[in-house]
Amino acid sequence: MSSPVAMRAAVYQGPGRLAIEERPVPRPGPREVLIRISHCGVCGTDLHFVMDGWGRPGSIGGHEYSGVIASVGSDVVGWTVGDAVVAGADVGCGECRQCRNHRVSLCEAQGDAAMAEYVGAFAEFKLAPADQLHRIPSGLSLRLAAIAEPLAVSLHGITQSGIRPGQRALITGAGPVGMFTLAALRAHGVEDVTVSEPSGVRRALAERVGATRAIPPEELLVPALPFTIVDDPYDVAFECSGKAAAVESALAQLAKTGTLCLLGTGAERPRFDAMRVLMNELIVTGAYAYDENGFDRALELIGSGSLPTDLLIAENEIGLDDLLPTMQQLVAGEVGGKVLVVPS
Ligand code: NAD
Ligand code: ZN
Repeated sequence: MSSPVAMRAAVYQGPGRLAIEERPVPRPGPREVLIRISHCGVCGTDLHFVMDGWGRPGSIGGHEYSGVIASVGSDVVGWTVGDAVVAGADVGCGECRQCRNHRVSLCEAQGDAAMAEYVGAFAEFKLAPADQLHRIPSGLSLRLAAIAEPLAVSLHGITQSGIRPGQRALITGAGPVGMFTLAALRAHGVEDVTVSEPSGVRRALAERVGATRAIPPEELLVPALPFTIVDDPYDVAFECSGKAAAVESALAQLAKTGTLCLLGTGAERPRFDAMRVLMNELIVTGAYAYDENGFDRALELIGSGSLPTDLLIAENEIGLDDLLPTMQQLVAGEVGGKVLVVPS
């Protein structure tokens, strides 16, 4: 069956503005496939690009998608029309220093251009490189598979943090990244997890997902002196809000030798308490994108049935026309779980 020639897409116009436009359906290059998008999640990064104006006018967001292959480039082997897939860059060039060290999210062959020219899945169709495809296991729905990407992000944060079962964790920010990190930590055997989040809706959801307690950020006190450790400190803090104040406060909640793992992105730079790091031998690390083969691990974890996916995914799916008003609600923290867009 041939693909239609035109498709609908949510196109970024400028800060806080999206328009639904008709775009030509792209044609796959020799090593690409065309995917008919089934579901695409709305990420905090999409919120930055649209609501904070990080985007380039004319661009299309959406990178957390599942779909079905609609056509296949001339040199693609192993994939056929009708295959159900998710896609993402958890496979690097395999040759650079980072890839050889299994740090594929830092692959040196994937330049900044790949990000700048990204054409996303808030559209009916999307192209993807064939070497970034992952087959959705039979029995797993396209809807559930769409959360593989954000779950792979959280799994990478857990890897980077080095947390072990029995340790205490703090998560700052209970948007989808924080909420998925919470669920993945519980599945990983970490039982004592505190969540700090200003939105009451999200705090309530975090408790249902498995947080030991969910508190407003003001309850995290920052000692005046760098050698003062808070009462009941944490072994690992996962910063998932991108807010400078949360980074500063998360660092101050750590036990000696604790680890701060940064997942949230933000334009505002936090004040770095070097003396607190030095005197308590803290570790500060980032988590960018995914582990090697992070998608397959995420698909496996979703398929295992051990995650509360009914809580992690917002009940109502939305169309492209609802994307902007939903983004406004997400920024206001009015919606709890991951919102999925169904473009057609
Ligand atoms: P989100 O905007 O829905 O979540 C951020 C949450 O932080 C919100 O619930 C907000 O209320 C909360 N928050 C605001 N101020 C806070 C504070 N002082 N203390 C605690 N919480 C606070 O977005 P999301 O989808 O969960 O994404 C979170 C961040 O992760 C974004 O910055 C996004 O760009 C980033 N991100 C990073 C990666 C990566 O590879 N590291 C991947 C995806 C997203
Ligand atoms: Zn994302």
